[in-house]
Amino acid sequence: MTTPTARPLLRRRTLLAGALSLGAALTALGSAAGPVWAAGGPPVSGCEAWGARAPKSPVKVLTGRPQKIIVHHTATDNVTEYGQDRAFALARAMQTYQMDTEGWIDTGQHFTISRGAFVTEGRHGSLAALDTGAQTVEAAHCTGQNTVAIGIENEGTYTAEEPRAEQYATLVDLCTRICLQYGLRPYQIYGHRDFNNTQCPGDRLYALLPKLRADVAARIGGDATAPVWPVLRTGDVDERVRVLQCLLVQRGAAITPDGSFGPATEGALRAFQTQIGAGIDGVAGNQTWNQLCAPVAQGATGEAVKAVQSRLSALGFPTTADGAFGPGTAARVSAFQSARALPQDGVVDARTWSRLLG
Ligand SMILES: [Zn+2]
Repeated sequence: MTTPTARPLLRRRTLLAGALSLGAALTALGSAAGPVWAAGGPPVSGCEAWGARAPKSPVKVLTGRPQKIIVHHTATDNVTEYGQDRAFALARAMQTYQMDTEGWIDTGQHFTISRGAFVTEGRHGSLAALDTGAQTVEAAHCTGQNTVAIGIENEGTYTAEEPRAEQYATLVDLCTRICLQYGLRPYQIYGHRDFNNTQCPGDRLYALLPKLRADVAARIGGDATAPVWPVLRTGDVDERVRVLQCLLVQRGAAITPDGSFGPATEGALRAFQTQIGAGIDGVAGNQTWNQLCAPVAQGATGEAVKAVQSRLSALGFPTTADGAFGPGTAARVSAFQSARALPQDGVVDARTWSRLLG
């Protein structure tokens, strides 16, 4: 599968630079008794290799690591052409469609895996950003998540059949590589439908995501369990409603967090669901929480911090709800994480949020 135009993803310098986060992972790799993962990850053909057009305007390079990976299917035919020519033609066709019909500046996703398991770069700069381990490029693959999520398109339609074994294996390889490079954990791998009102990545590929997380976890360690969220709706009176309300206020809603899910809260929720392309049902479920619960860490301020503090107090870790995430709050978060057998990093990411709401 290696071609003269494909670039190996793993660079020695990145291994050295990320020694702290990669150390445990590499130890796990070295001692793994299972199938050996090629340390370089799958080769990825860059935009120049497949003949990409220049973007309509400069691609925005963001300083900061992504928070997650989002898996898609292209909803195109399940072709039986498995060569590199097909992969490159697909990359060009997607870019043309997304630029000329969707009106985007460039390809929407960061990476694409063909039916023949060839990986191509999507949006310009995605590969260079991945190589840094510290940057991403703003993309257009999932409304509400384009600055924080790496998007992987899988060629085909996986509503009634699964990806080819070779394609799935390459997806595992690519996700492993991205997780190592950016310090992501296996539970941070999602499907498009976890955020937007879409069938993507199809019922069959979506059903494979627990296995995908587990297969990545087998290589790099870590928790493979996706966050589980409460379902809240009109009529609920619950301290978790207050969290929902605080998070909606943080996103601009003009409501008062009072712990009671009334018409104003439902209206604000529907407006938020509209804004982020979720199913608009006025019920706070998987898509709503996945979109609302952005990571919160020391130095943050605002309603989301108040929500964290109030939940910590409610769960037996008394914290002043002043909306300022200082060392005291960080210590309480670490204590909570310890009590829940989570890594004590003091960061309230999706997994810690879900435990606070559990
Ligand atoms: Zn999608």
